[in-house]
Amino acid sequence: MPEPYAVLGVAKTATADEIKKAYRKLAREFHPDRNPGDAAAEERFKEIQGAYDLLSDPDQRKQYDTFGAAGPGAGGPFGGGAGGGFGNVRFENVDFSDLLGGLGGLFGNRGHTRPRSERGADLEARVRISFDDALAGTTVRVPVEVEAVCRVCAGTGAEPGTAPRTCPDCGGTGILAANQGLFSLSQPCPRCRGNGVIVDKPCKNCRGTGRERVTKRYAVKVPAGARSGTRIRLKGKGEPGVNGGPAGDLHVVVDVVPSQLYERRGSDLVLDVPVTYPEAALGATVQIPTPDGPVALKIPSGSEHGKLLRVKGRGAPKLDGGGRGDLLARVQVTVPKKLSKAEKEALEGYREVLKEDPREKAFS
Ligand SMILES: [Zn+2]
Ligand SMILES: [Zn+2]
Repeated sequence: MPEPYAVLGVAKTATADEIKKAYRKLAREFHPDRNPGDAAAEERFKEIQGAYDLLSDPDQRKQYDTFGAAGPGAGGPFGGGAGGGFGNVRFENVDFSDLLGGLGGLFGNRGHTRPRSERGADLEARVRISFDDALAGTTVRVPVEVEAVCRVCAGTGAEPGTAPRTCPDCGGTGILAANQGLFSLSQPCPRCRGNGVIVDKPCKNCRGTGRERVTKRYAVKVPAGARSGTRIRLKGKGEPGVNGGPAGDLHVVVDVVPSQLYERRGSDLVLDVPVTYPEAALGATVQIPTPDGPVALKIPSGSEHGKLLRVKGRGAPKLDGGGRGDLLARVQVTVPKKLSKAEKEALEGYREVLKEDPREKAFS
């Protein structure tokens, strides 16, 4: 049977919840009711169902993780995990039409097995954007290296001018039957590895695989308010599927260059605003920058160092639907390093008249 984790597109470490979610999504997509008459979708649906049956049962999952598809002690040519794409013999949810040679449609009828379809892998790409672009939203071009049909051999894997020929060992079925008493077990043809065809002269460009790596460029819209770690999913832009399976997804992860001025706090922006001691003590109105240009900020009298003053709606756009965060102006009381004679005298005078002793409260 196909690798159940790959069928559901989840990691081996996926939680039961993640498995259920992946299953629901895929089952909806490939349900026969939604794909009437589509045999590939039906087959895929069965795979999805089979994979979920196995992985949703903690005991079966554990057994699979430990022993592979065949289960403990099954022996025979189908030992754990070996031939990935070959799913005719199931030891779990045994389907006797598959086990009894000649009865199942796979063996009796046309003689050609269709290779199993698989979903393409998901890809991840990172993009780095400026702080301003993250606030305003932008479109970036993302180069992605994906697998594609080889342009030289058009996917046959054979050198141009030559053609793949039918495998003489299995007559093109890709399957060899081996009689073992009552059951006629079948296994993938070793000569053509289940493909049914043999390539005598492999294509040089793809070394016979029929596929090659190509770089595709996608224009990706980064929403206003994106931050480092924001993920954008492009459905179907990952690796192409195998044998008619659906393509994987492309996940674009945003990386935002930090701002010299602002610190991101969710959709709020924190801005340090230096003020002098008299401004903090007596209050003042000062000019501060915002993403939309400067505004006047009122510092209330008695503002302590570190106090946050909220400027409504001047933060970053909110990613989850509409509105903007706030700008949080953080009061930074500065101490002058160099004093003129007049300043020194003024401060000495201030020291004389100041009654408050801040240590009195702090250390009591
Ligand atoms: Zn090729
Ligand atoms: Zn063969």
